[in-house]
Formats: sequence, structure tokens, C-alpha cells
Amino acid sequence: MRDYAKPKVSIAFDMFGCPQSCRHCWLGQIPWQPMDEQDVFSTFAEARQLEDVHVESIAPDFREPHMAPEYRELYARCDKINGCRLEADYSFELLNLWRLVNDPEYAVWAAARGIRRCQLKWFGTGSVNDDFYGRVGVDQILARATGILLENGIVPRWQIYLNSAGAPQLQDIWQLAQEWELPRRVKQLNDTFDIHCLAYDVDGSAFAERHRRMRRGEEHHIPRGLWESTQRKFAGYELQTEGDLYRQINDGDSGCIPDTGGHQLWFFVTSNWDVYPNFMGPAPWWKLGNLRTEPWQDVWQRYAAGDCIGLQVMRTWTAVQLAQAYGAPDGDSLFDSVGQVVDYWRGHACRDLYRAQQVERVGSGNESTPKPCSKSDIGSMWSRKSQITGFRGSCPAGQSHF
Ligand code: SF4
Repeated sequence: MRDYAKPKVSIAFDMFGCPQSCRHCWLGQIPWQPMDEQDVFSTFAEARQLEDVHVESIAPDFREPHMAPEYRELYARCDKINGCRLEADYSFELLNLWRLVNDPEYAVWAAARGIRRCQLKWFGTGSVNDDFYGRVGVDQILARATGILLENGIVPRWQIYLNSAGAPQLQDIWQLAQEWELPRRVKQLNDTFDIHCLAYDVDGSAFAERHRRMRRGEEHHIPRGLWESTQRKFAGYELQTEGDLYRQINDGDSGCIPDTGGHQLWFFVTSNWDVYPNFMGPAPWWKLGNLRTEPWQDVWQRYAAGDCIGLQVMRTWTAVQLAQAYGAPDGDSLFDSVGQVVDYWRGHACRDLYRAQQVERVGSGNESTPKPCSKSDIGSMWSRKSQITGFRGSCPAGQSHF
């Protein structure tokens, strides 16, 4: 039984990686290797022995869900541990795009599982969409996926990530939704078609690809209907430049650290057994420990003590300090909120502090610190993805995602 006095955490394991390589992915291009299921379950059971925290749920994924070849059986085993069908009961609204168009049984299973809605994302059309996803023929895949969802009584939700390259194609995406009569077809499922746009993410691959953000002057590409639909979903949604947000924060008097009180804490366990909290992407500055070399107790204590660069920055740097250190007063990239631009500056701070720490450790001869994933790690994951998706373009993490 849950002890309500204790903090609560759930744990997700990267058991099957992700076949996509989205250029906005906040998780970045993390390497992947197979994880043994028995190891995963016994590691989760060990976490449940922690005395200071209530360990609630297990998820066998934190990227694309349901990637396991035997996904039905695996999720049934997790359901038994969790006492619920996690992604259905908590409306995660995500399905596996690759499986949706390659496995005829999948949508039937998802609908029977109680999944009512599924987000499909767009970055543009044609080669822009392919480039952002890291796979070929994405428009056709999204078209098929939309049809398959509707046929199985699952409502498709189109989410469009704003970026400079895709801006001139926003009208085409809006037009496709109208031509395919998605509002009418979703209404037949007693729901309202949800199509909206969002500012580009700020961490992981999106940080490395920040030059792709939509800029002031490009908003006129957003069709009126799309903007109105976005406003219906997020009342008062706004796009503001980094410079505008810089002035609001810098000239304000709160200097607050954004409140994380309502945050639902998850620990992400990557396939090499590193553990990260889910505030931003799994990067070395957020690493809490490694379960091959340390027990859960050490990992939890490091989290509780805020003993990693990311937690230190998040818990101690005010928004004004971040603005003054990293804000661009003339920046014309578009963000959707103070919280988003603060996360972006926090990403700069974490990277700078991490680099400084690395230099200091190398200088002192103590190099036994965790290293960021190497280009060769990323290269081997990329060749595995290429086998699945057929994409032969350049690796989005080709340079570095730091
Ligand atoms: S954003 Fe893309 S690459 Fe990242 S987990 Fe989701 S599907 Fe995978």
C-alpha cells in the first residue's frame, strides 16, 4: 500500500530503443543495446525495496512505445506489476508509428487496450518531414497511420512542430487535414479533431538543432485555421522571441526559479543502466548513477541531495541569473513561454558547467567520470535504425548533440 508521506517515483527502462531519430527529440540520440527482461524486472523489484520513496510504476519504454517484438506479452506482464494499463489509463496518447503501419494486429490490440487517441507529428511535408524524422516517405506513413487509426476507432491528433524549413509547408499540412475530411471523420468517433502547432523543443536533439527554430517574421506562414485550433487547445498560446522573453524576465522583479512542484517524477534507465530524472533529456549532467556499479539507494540519495549538475542548476539558478548569463537580448528565435526559454538557457548552463567539470577532472588526473556517448556509439545505433527505416540521410547527431 502506498505511504502518502513518501515521495513517489516511477521507473522507465529503454528496453527497445526507438526507430526514429527526430531532430527535435528532447531525449537526444541516446545509444541503445538489448536489455534482459529478467534483469529489468528484478532491478525494478530492488527499487521497490527503497525505504524513503514509493516506487509506483514500471514502463518498458521511454521512447517509442510497444517496440518489443512480443509487445502484447511484455505489456501484459507490466500491467500485472502496475495494476493498470499505464499508457491507456493515463492517456499518454502515443503509439508506435513504425508498428502502426507494419503490424496489422497492432491498432486492433491498442484499441482493445483502451487507447483512445494517438498523436502524429509533422515538421513539414516531403523531404523536410523525412529529414526531421530520420526516415523516408513520412508523409505517406502518416497518411496510412491516420487511416488505420480511424478504421480502428482511435482518434488521430496532429501535432506540428514549428521550424524554419517547414514553415512554408504549414498551409499544405492544414490543407491535407481538410482534404482528408479529418474533422468530419473524427466527429464520427464522437470527438473533435485536434490539430495544433507547437514551438520547437529545447533540449536533446532540439538543442543541437536550435538553428532550425522558427524565427520572427515566419509566423505569417501559420494558417489562420491552424492558429485558431491551437488557441482552442492552449488558451492564450503565444509565440515570443528570445529577446522579448529576455526583457520580460530581466526587467521583472521575481527572479523566480520555475516551480517543479507538480512534476511527476520518473527515473529513466538507459540500456547501459545509467539513471536520469525526467526533467530534461538523459545527458551526463543529469546522470544520477549507474545500476551496474551502484545500488538504488545511492542513486536515490544523489537525487534527494540534488547531486548532479542539472539538479543544481534547476534548484538554484534563478530565471534572471540564467537570462543574464545566456539570454540573447536581440534573439529572434520563437519560444512559447518563459518556462520554455528558461529551460533553453538552463541547457546552456548545464553544458558549460559539465565541460568545465570535465576539464577540471582531466587537469587533476581523475578521468573516471561518466563520458557523454561517443560518435561511434551514435553511429552504431544509426546503422541499426537505417535497417528498420530505410533512411540513408545524414545522422542528425552527426556533429554532436551537446
Ligand atoms: S521524439 Fe522521435 S526520436 Fe524521440 S523518442 Fe519520440 S519518436 Fe523517438
